[in-house]
Amino acid sequence: MSGNLPTLHTLNRLVGRTPLLALDLLFRGEPRRLYAKAENFNFTGSIKDRMALHILRKAYESGALKPGAPIAEATSGNTGISFSALGRALGHPVTIFMPDWMSQERKDLIRSFGAEIRLVSAAEGGFLGSIGLSETWAARTPDAFLPCQFANDANVEAHATTTGPEIWAQLGSVGLQPHAFVAGVGTGGTVMGVARYLREMDPTIQIHPVEPANSPTLRTGHKIGKHRIQGISDEFIPAIVKLDQLDDILAVDDGDAILMAQKLANRGLGVGISSGANFLAALQAQERLGRDAVVVTVFSDSNKKYLSTDLMKVEPVKPGFLSQEVELIGIGEAIRVCEVCVQTGSCVPGCGC
Ligand code: PMP
Repeated sequence: MSGNLPTLHTLNRLVGRTPLLALDLLFRGEPRRLYAKAENFNFTGSIKDRMALHILRKAYESGALKPGAPIAEATSGNTGISFSALGRALGHPVTIFMPDWMSQERKDLIRSFGAEIRLVSAAEGGFLGSIGLSETWAARTPDAFLPCQFANDANVEAHATTTGPEIWAQLGSVGLQPHAFVAGVGTGGTVMGVARYLREMDPTIQIHPVEPANSPTLRTGHKIGKHRIQGISDEFIPAIVKLDQLDDILAVDDGDAILMAQKLANRGLGVGISSGANFLAALQAQERLGRDAVVVTVFSDSNKKYLSTDLMKVEPVKPGFLSQEVELIGIGEAIRVCEVCVQTGSCVPGCGC
């Protein structure tokens, strides 16, 4: 059996190097362009494949993960899906600890990969309870590997070595440089990792973390209120998030994020709710910098895991919702560059693009 398992190198061909979409729109009647990485192109359909693959690679290298050893993780869903698929592909048993209020699609997908799922109720501590239970499980299980995505610098490194360089090379290939990057914070791996790389290339780049206006964990430091943007604002500030290294926090109402995701789908872009939030936060950043500012974000996953949620219902419009002032024209460009250009940071003659 082991002879037929894919190698990390093979899986690496299936993760990352996603297209950078140039999205054309009218905002209050004025032409605008925003950029978003289409992370639904990854192996399991979300940005979390980058982090999961990088953590697994590092764990093999350090010896923390042995062939066939059990893997467990606490997650709001996409991470569980990534570790389940990649872990099973590499021949590991996988156990996922997840709050029980996450979408049915997330639970079913994790089970479909043959991973075990342990749902954690609010009474058992929800998110923090999931982390605690995964640690107890690991302490009792011989050779267990716990990726610890909320505290593991390899999560940040995954984006500093892939997402960030890709954005830089993709914009460079059309003669541009980013002025700002925004991303919703779950573990914070995306925003911290992209910040690490882009700030090295240009220290003046604005980097904004994004959170739900209805549940401002980053602003308050603890769980407050409720929200429907699955994948971000998980009740606490993760250890890898260093707010003092970032620019100010942008907030998006979850209803506005749902309406924006619906609007994107209406132009053929079937993305998740956090992508709607990221798009509106990118627009806020552009409002501050000027209409021609090059602002980049990520579409972390597709809409397929939200078909049973409010994303498919009629969402009430509230005063001040930015989505109502956006008229989406469509995808102006889908920028792809080859591996050589990502490695060198710019398009080189004969590279293969
Ligand atoms: N959006 C979705 C749909 C996610 O699953 C996640 C990951 N939890 C994020 C955004 C946030 O990404 P990160 O963990 O890198 O902050």
